[in-house]
Amino acid sequence: MMIKDRVLEIKAERKKLYYELLDLQLKCEHLNVTKKCHGNSGNYDPSADLYWIEWRCPDCEKAWTSDQSRANVLKPGVVID
Ligand SMILES: [Zn+2]
Repeated sequence: MMIKDRVLEIKAERKKLYYELLDLQLKCEHLNVTKKCHGNSGNYDPSADLYWIEWRCPDCEKAWTSDQSRANVLKPGVVID
């Protein structure tokens, strides 16, 4: 088999696996999600201070952030705490 053909096969398989993973992350309820608060305070202009939450799900490995000034959003429309 030509290397080029095998590379195309691998890329097609990788794409398929990527979408399968995205689908699992959408279905996951992130029940074991971890929450870590971050801040970037002490700026000369306090309005430039940022506070955010980093979320990580150990099950589906999805990671995302949300602004701390908003509610604790687990998924759009789903609030915890
Ligand atoms: Zn998850």
